[in-house]
Amino acid sequence: MDIENEAEELASALGADKTEVKRDLENLVSYSVPLEEAKQSLRRKYGDGDGASGGAEPESKDIADVDTDDSSVTITGRLLTVGKRSIRYQGADHTIFEGEIADDSGKRSYTAWEDFGLGAGQTIRAGNAGVREWEGEAELNFGESTSIETLSETLDVAYPVGGEADLIDLEPGDRGITVEVQVLECESKVIDGRDGETEILSGVLGDETTRLPFTDWDPHPSIEESNSVRIEDTYVREFRGAPSINVSEFSTVTPLSRTVEPNQDAPSMSVREAIGAGGMFDVELTGNVIEVRDGSGLIERCPECGRVTQNDQCRSHGQVEGVPDLRTKAILDDGTGTVTAILDDGITADIYGGDVADAQEHARDAMDMTVVAEAIAETIVGREYRVRGTLSIDEYGANLNASTFAEAADNPADRASTLLAEVEQ
Ligand SMILES: [Zn+2]
Repeated sequence: MDIENEAEELASALGADKTEVKRDLENLVSYSVPLEEAKQSLRRKYGDGDGASGGAEPESKDIADVDTDDSSVTITGRLLTVGKRSIRYQGADHTIFEGEIADDSGKRSYTAWEDFGLGAGQTIRAGNAGVREWEGEAELNFGESTSIETLSETLDVAYPVGGEADLIDLEPGDRGITVEVQVLECESKVIDGRDGETEILSGVLGDETTRLPFTDWDPHPSIEESNSVRIEDTYVREFRGAPSINVSEFSTVTPLSRTVEPNQDAPSMSVREAIGAGGMFDVELTGNVIEVRDGSGLIERCPECGRVTQNDQCRSHGQVEGVPDLRTKAILDDGTGTVTAILDDGITADIYGGDVADAQEHARDAMDMTVVAEAIAETIVGREYRVRGTLSIDEYGANLNASTFAEAADNPADRASTLLAEVEQ
């Protein structure tokens, strides 16, 4: 920005005469006074017209250089996304605006606590923006004492503007996001919300890249199974360790004339990569089962909450009469890392070759419940499986809740015999 523009901006902010401000600014700069310092001294001379900012503005900073040690800064950047959201704070509902802002140096999250009329793509100068720490990063806060000015010139930035995204690229914390998806699963639920009982929708959305779960907190009629829709202004939260799309009262849902063809395949990756992604809703991992963990085989669950009971004791409900069930916790190792694949009653019954009643009979005959887990271990330990499901990561480790569990077609034994056959030819 040149002196002319700086002077014009400053003069209009101070309500002072532009020619005078420009002359003073040029003077100071010609005496090698740094531009920001020169502007500060002119603010003092002409009096800050903006009473709210309470005097001198803090120094201008590159967005990448904003630090959690800063109390407030002045930045100029381009709004990449603007998401509108309602929050309850001290008993009252507030509408806030959140997203990311970028300049040449990088990008950063912001929250606007007032309606400044922000729009994605705008280039703004935010004077006296607050800085707070959010998940270890400095986040910008635009509040009462912040002056927002929309600049007529557009700042070129190295990031996409407007928030249009593929599902596979979404991460918890993304806001002001637009997606084009097919509604793959959708059910209506009544929950006990902050205003009593509320109807919400939840299910699964898919696009050409992957599938993700969603919640619509203010049911939109076009969100219906098998509909293709464009959803503007959504935000992404973490749900059971994987990203989940949140549709709100501020989201716009428009039916699409085209059909979004969802990717039916789960992305296939190494255990290390999948864990590095911090949880995935739908992923395929291939590895050897090296162990069947405790809590597998014939188990009992609390009839109230479904938690696994130990000696008829539920962690939440105390003494209960456990309901028998089948489950397998198999440690899967692909050489880059391990996950615990959790196989439900159906998959476990397939591996075991019998249902819950068969397992109970087996255990009664042997007078030992662990025989079921032993039989399962004998079948799967040492073999290679391709497991698809939802990967979640918590303090206890990485769990893959399996939707499918299939022996890898190209298992090492097959590969070895193929190799042998080739050698023998
Ligand atoms: Zn219970």
